[in-house]
Amino acid sequence: MPRLNKAKRAARSRAAALRGRAARKPAPTTPRRAAPTPPRRPARTRKPAPTTPHRPAPTTPRRRPLPGPASTPRRPPPGALRVQSCLGCIKSALAGRSSGECHDSATGGSRCWRCSSGHSCLPLPPVAVVYARRLVAALVAEDERAAS
Ligand SMILES: [Zn+2]
Ligand SMILES: [Zn+2]
Repeated sequence: MPRLNKAKRAARSRAAALRGRAARKPAPTTPRRAAPTPPRRPARTRKPAPTTPHRPAPTTPRRRPLPGPASTPRRPPPGALRVQSCLGCIKSALAGRSSGECHDSATGGSRCWRCSSGHSCLPLPPVAVVYARRLVAALVAEDERAAS
C-alpha cells in the first residue's frame, strides 16, 4: 500500500509540475497575439484594388462624347420626308417628342430615320392614317409658328 501511495504522489507531483510548466507557457504567448495586423490588411488592399482599374477606363471615354456634338456623329441627317408616317414616328409625336414627320434613313434601309436606331418600323393602322396626317400637319404648323 505505501508503495502505491508513493507512486501516486510521485505521479501527482509530476502532473502538477507539468501543469505548472504548461500554465507558464501561455503567459508569454498572449502578448504576441495582441498585434491585430491580419484584419487591417484586407481592408487596405480592398480599397485601392477596385479604384485603380475603374479610374482610367470608364471616365475618359464617357466625358468626351457628352459635351461634344452628340447628334452629329451618332445619327446622320434624316433623308427625304415620307408621305405616310410610320407608327413609331406617330407615337413619338403623341408623346410630345417630335412633330411626327417620318423621314427616310440615311443608310437607305426599309426603316425610317427615327426607327433606324433599333426600333422596328411598323406601318400605321389604316384607320389611323387620316388622323395621323392631321396630327402631323398640326404639329408642324405649331413648330413653324414657334420658330417664326
Ligand atoms: Zn418613322
Ligand atoms: Zn419608323
